[in-house]
Amino acid sequence: MKVLVINCGSSSLKYQLIDASTETALASGLCERIGIDGLLTHKVDGKKVKDEEKNPMPNHEVAVKLVLDALVDKDYGVITSLEEIGAIGHRVVHGGEHFASSVIINDEVEKAIEACNDLAPLHNPANLVGIKACRKVLPQVPMVAVFDTAFHQTMPEKAYLYGLPREYYDKYKIRRYGFHGTSHSFVSKRLAELAGLDIHNSKLIVCHIGNGGSVTAVKNGKSVDTSMGLTPLEGIIMGTRSGSLDPAIVEFIAHKENKTIEEVMTVLNKKSGLAGMSGLTSDFRDLRKGKSEGNQLAAIAMDAFIYNIVKYVGAYAAAMNGVDAIAFTAGIGENAIEVRTGVMENLGYLGVEADLEACKQMGQEMMVSTKDSKVKVFIVPTNEELAIARETKALL
Ligand code: ADP
Repeated sequence: MKVLVINCGSSSLKYQLIDASTETALASGLCERIGIDGLLTHKVDGKKVKDEEKNPMPNHEVAVKLVLDALVDKDYGVITSLEEIGAIGHRVVHGGEHFASSVIINDEVEKAIEACNDLAPLHNPANLVGIKACRKVLPQVPMVAVFDTAFHQTMPEKAYLYGLPREYYDKYKIRRYGFHGTSHSFVSKRLAELAGLDIHNSKLIVCHIGNGGSVTAVKNGKSVDTSMGLTPLEGIIMGTRSGSLDPAIVEFIAHKENKTIEEVMTVLNKKSGLAGMSGLTSDFRDLRKGKSEGNQLAAIAMDAFIYNIVKYVGAYAAAMNGVDAIAFTAGIGENAIEVRTGVMENLGYLGVEADLEACKQMGQEMMVSTKDSKVKVFIVPTNEELAIARETKALL
């Protein structure tokens, strides 16, 4: 079965056509500037075969049609007919408490996703637009929604409730939801296999460290705690997000800088983290360059970034009363050697022994602890699109 995976933003649409039987990506691409002008980049075998600016995309429906045209194009298409698309898997950011697993999309599911819009106002409406556009253009194709929050619905109350008056949970469902669930689920399963563990009897920690980042404690295959919260702002220091801080800081900045709450939130989401601390960049590679050129603030930002991850790993080892294996994934987790070694250096007390030669490698699936290390540590490249295709196939 060929599964089209769609990840829709407010003005963009990422796609990948995956042969779910062989688990290979046949084509991938991105529509950008939807509603502005429109730019479609289509790749086959990872190589760009079409990069056009003259594709007016007044809305997502037109973008979906252009993607389908590209997939069946006689020169660079990868299928001969749209009938070859057996299903569409949609990434949906927030499933609230409605969805603890993926679901086949129907009108009722659309409404339930809409009901979660309040919890993810930047993401869910855009995800829904993508779903509606696909259902309109390909009404006969079954569609599945795969939620970023679903994997974390197994967290116990003690982990997901904040120390707030109960009424806010009862009235508004304010609680920890967690994100990157598709990645944490995919990576934790693979980590257990690589470490030779029975996932149903294991204590794992997954560090998904990209531009956005979260750390998750996975006990016996289930998420039991995670660093992101009601929104993806909580947790470790990220590219532009502050991560966790004293909530009183919001009021303090608002008063001192004469800003509204919304303006302070924009600072915390878009101008903080590595970018804000260094005053330089949110991109880890540029930060590394800054540090090597003697930029003190870049060096401090990097130190704080690593220190934060160390603290979360320690907290989750404590929460599970131990840890058997740890995975690093996503752009920084897979590639940034200094982050991995920096974190591992501080986990000796747990029984982590870094393999210093292996630690110099990057980007591929491999063990970076010694084979005698009590706690095994692996790089496990994440593949959220493949995970969505698997979920979609499994449901259908
Ligand atoms: P997201 O999906 O959250 O946008 P990614 O998982 O793509 O983010 O990660 C992006 C981050 O990974 C950037 O900060 C980038 O600098 C970093 N990154 C990518 N390649 C490398 C590398 N070779 N070394 C260090 N950092 C890297």
